[in-house]
Amino acid sequence: MSQDARTNAKPALRIIPREQHVISRKNISKAALRVLYRLNEAGFQAYLVGGAVRDLLLGGHPKDFDVATNATPDEVKKLFRNSRLIGRRFRLAHVVYGPEIIEVATFRGTGEEEGEGDRHIVDGRIVRDNVWGTVEEDALRRDFRVNALYYDISDFSVRDYVGGMQDVEGRVLHLIGDPATRYREDPVRMLRAVRLAAKLNFRIDAKAAAPFDELGPLLAEAAPARLFDESLKLFLAGHGLKSFHMLEQTGLLKFMFPATARALKRGDHALRALVEQGLANTDARVAEGKSVTPAFLFAVLLWGEVRDLAHTWITKGLEPNAAWERAAVHVIGEQCQRVAIPRRFTLTMEEIWALQPRFEQVQRKRVFRLMAHPRFRAAFDFLVLRAAESPAVKELGDWWAHAQQLPHETLAAALAGTSSGPSTESAAPTKPRKRRRRKPSGKSGNKSDQA
Ligand code: ATP
Ligand code: MG
Repeated sequence: MSQDARTNAKPALRIIPREQHVISRKNISKAALRVLYRLNEAGFQAYLVGGAVRDLLLGGHPKDFDVATNATPDEVKKLFRNSRLIGRRFRLAHVVYGPEIIEVATFRGTGEEEGEGDRHIVDGRIVRDNVWGTVEEDALRRDFRVNALYYDISDFSVRDYVGGMQDVEGRVLHLIGDPATRYREDPVRMLRAVRLAAKLNFRIDAKAAAPFDELGPLLAEAAPARLFDESLKLFLAGHGLKSFHMLEQTGLLKFMFPATARALKRGDHALRALVEQGLANTDARVAEGKSVTPAFLFAVLLWGEVRDLAHTWITKGLEPNAAWERAAVHVIGEQCQRVAIPRRFTLTMEEIWALQPRFEQVQRKRVFRLMAHPRFRAAFDFLVLRAAESPAVKELGDWWAHAQQLPHETLAAALAGTSSGPSTESAAPTKPRKRRRRKPSGKSGNKSDQA
């Protein structure tokens, strides 16, 4: 942080006593309380800090509780048998209670003074080795004011060094210090701004949003693995649609998902519908406590480019299976330079895409083979989401939805007579992409022309 940033955010401590805030020990995890009390009884300062304090003030239920203290990691280790030290550059203690882990961090200094801690660039971030500090310094090196509130276990007050309480009330995100400087130190803070604004329903202060255009390209230097974690928190934490809209509005989407941003910019309305519906469904599943898979969502985000590339290559004469595979490899390759999607997810994405053209092939054997495919469900859900692409795709989705409802024998019988699907009036599949009708006609396209 620059000198300028520090003076801008000169700490003026405000202590909010217990009776003037809503944080109750009832809502703090037992494990976190034990850590706080034990540290305090041993004579150390001990605060709950960060997202947990912010979320508790907003009436939310934090999923993790972080503790800040003036005890060094070694002192923490001595106090808690159930702890282990982690981190190389900056050591932290994890205190473990069954499934719960409480992260205990020693107050970090700003490392402004000459020779204090070595500066390193790690994953596009400027970091310094263990430089311990005071609680005031620890507050100043945090990102947003609302993330720099400290709940004091010794008197249950909240300590506010940077005006975070006011921001909680005003539902706004201000960076601590000079925004451009803070983003240069760590570009991922731009994404954190968007994510927290989406999650909390806050606005991003104009000064905090102003550098996005100019500094967004710095995200290229952020570690792809970190961007993957960040993208899960953006899209799979229950506020994905909002995150997506905000990433688009702020112009940051193109630095994370260039292919998606390009396709949307070309006016790919079908892709937009797919992405928005996919995110809305994911948000609904999260709200119901159901599981969500990153693979499906990444498949959604990148579909526009994969489909267009595959079609281009097919037009140029490449064999369709090869064209789809090459398109998938190409798009995933580009994406993973930004956001490191683990292999287990990219494999599923490739399967979901590769199965899409197979929905057009509705001969009896192929229908049953596709239905038995381990990725059928995901691929079918994907097909349904693609309905906005064309009436033909919509019809195809309806056909498969209907086909799955039919008892096996009924479907088999219906498929037996024809080569193209149930003889009911239900939407029959349109012509498979590969086999072109000789004479295009205005007919309803009921029977496709496979022989
Ligand atoms: P979430 O609800 O996602 O957990 P959070 O604010 O708790 O939000 P964490 O990633 O858990 O986010 O970080 C915990 C705290 O550490 C933050 O509240 C903030 O004070 C500090 N912090 C995290 N990331 C940064 C960063 N990139 N720069 C500065 N401070 C950070
Ligand atoms: Mg957190």
